Amino acid sequence: MPYSLMILPGDGIGPEAMSEVKKVISWLQENADIEFDIQEDLVGGAAIDAYGVPFSDETLEKCKKADAVLLGAVGGPKWDNVDYNIRPEAGLLRIRKELDLFANLRPAIVFDALIEASTLKEEVVRGLDILIVRELTGGVYFGEPRGIEDLGNGQRRGVNTQVYTTSEIERVGRIAFDLAKKRSNRVCSCEKANVMESGKLWREDMSALHAAEFSDVELSHMYADNCAMQLLRNPSQFDVIVTDNLFGDILSDEAAMLTGSLGMLPSASLGMSGTGICNALYEPVHGSAPDIAGQGKANPLASILSFSMALRYSFNRGDLADHLEQAVQNVLNSGIRTADIMADGCKQVSTSEMGDILVERLSAQPLQSQSAA
Ligand code: NAD
Repeated sequence: MPYSLMILPGDGIGPEAMSEVKKVISWLQENADIEFDIQEDLVGGAAIDAYGVPFSDETLEKCKKADAVLLGAVGGPKWDNVDYNIRPEAGLLRIRKELDLFANLRPAIVFDALIEASTLKEEVVRGLDILIVRELTGGVYFGEPRGIEDLGNGQRRGVNTQVYTTSEIERVGRIAFDLAKKRSNRVCSCEKANVMESGKLWREDMSALHAAEFSDVELSHMYADNCAMQLLRNPSQFDVIVTDNLFGDILSDEAAMLTGSLGMLPSASLGMSGTGICNALYEPVHGSAPDIAGQGKANPLASILSFSMALRYSFNRGDLADHLEQAVQNVLNSGIRTADIMADGCKQVSTSEMGDILVERLSAQPLQSQSAA
């Protein structure tokens, strides 16, 4: 059975980067034992222009049926003045909400060839490979009551509510523990149990889940502020970090910057549908980069590495993800660079040249396919 893949290239550099992902997909279809049934549609500004909304109901239905959704990026100055409710980014929020994507996965991997791009010392970040699992649909960004009220005496009061239930904590915890089993088997759960009741509940529920279902995985707890410090002091101590929406927002950006290059950062967002099948959206961390769109300067590797996450997590083909990631390493090791990661002595290439060279490297490496093994 082919896997169904929904591709939403979006705006700005999104379509340019996605063209290079499609080269990788074609290579896999021709050379590996995997087949895809691919559909493509519009999202963000491109969808506003065509359908009047940034994410249409028809597109949503197709996404719900797909095994995985690959997204480029949305937004750009052309749509800066559209109504707030139909701005391009609203399309992104709608996909996340409608697919109930409650777990956001952000790897922070330092490639040896790009180690100088990190602002930290080489010995601190060499070989870094951590994964932050952020709860994405609950917590203070969604809790009620919320709002700004007028106190009538020249003062106003802003309110947001941090709220989590046991089931919300358990479902993101299960994803973190399951992922740790495929990595170095360690989970660090972060909250502020020392000052927040929701953090106390988070810690208790993670511990109970661990004892009941995942005692074979090593679990530690850390206050989120300490985690922020430890990420700079000794990031390699971590394997998987699981945390709530607010702390995850901050800690995942901090961890990403340990790697130093926005054009290299992939992400995945996972959820469960009613039937228990996993919904999944894969997208680069970067935006639509209107300043370089259409100039062949975009680094397509964040989008390609996002597709690699789809191979690993949606299609259970870690072997093909390893093959692809090895090819990315080889390309970087041979000094091939797009402008954003250019360094002395390296060769600068365009977006499409990067895709072509990567595909050459895919062919040059022996493919140890899972089913052939
Ligand atoms: P951005 O990530 O688009 O760009 C920030 C800087 O990084 C720019 O200088 C850009 O040229 C560079 N850059 C980003 N990705 C790159 C890549 N792959 N290769 C080379 N250089 C790259 O962020 P921004 O400028 O703050 O936002 C631009 C637009 O993107 C806005 O409309 C914003 O709302 C939108 N945005 C969308 C998403 C998304 O779709 N998930 C995320 C962030 C921002």
